Amino acid sequence: MAVDATLPYDEQNIFAKILRGEIPNRTVYEDDFALAFHDINPQAPTHVLVIPKGAYVCWDDFSAKATEAEIAGFVRAVGKVARDLGLVAPGYRLLANTGTDSHQEVPHLHVHLFAGQPLGPMLVR
Ligand code: AMP
Repeated sequence: MAVDATLPYDEQNIFAKILRGEIPNRTVYEDDFALAFHDINPQAPTHVLVIPKGAYVCWDDFSAKATEAEIAGFVRAVGKVARDLGLVAPGYRLLANTGTDSHQEVPHLHVHLFAGQPLGPMLVR
C-alpha cells in the first residue's frame, strides 16, 4: 500500500519502531544522524536502507524541514555506507521513493542502496 507523503509523521511506522529498538534490524552502520540496515526483502545482492534518525516522512519533508546538520549528516552517512561496503568502484544506485506514484510503502524517509550486480535500466519500461 503506497503512502500519501503529505500526511503527518506516523510514530507507529515500522522504521520508527526500528529506531526505537522495538523490532530488530540487521544494522550496517549507525551514527548520530543515520541508521543503515539490510532490507528485509532484498532486490539486489546488496540492498541496504539508510534512514535519518529524525522523524521525516519522505524526501520532501526532510529537504524542507531538516536542519543543515541533519542533512549533511544523513548525506555523508549514505556516502560512507557505500564506501565502507566497497561499492564505489563497482558502482551502486540510490533511490528514494516519495509518495503514491513512486509506491513509497514506509512513511519514514529511506534511501535504498542497491549494488552487487549490473542493475539494468533505471525504471521498468
Ligand atoms: P519503499 O517502497 O521505498 O517504501 O520501500 C520500503 C522497503 O522497506 C521495502 O524494500 C521493504 O522490503 C523494506 N522493509 C519493510 N519492513 C522492513 C523491515 N522490518 N526491515 C528491513 N526492511 C524492511
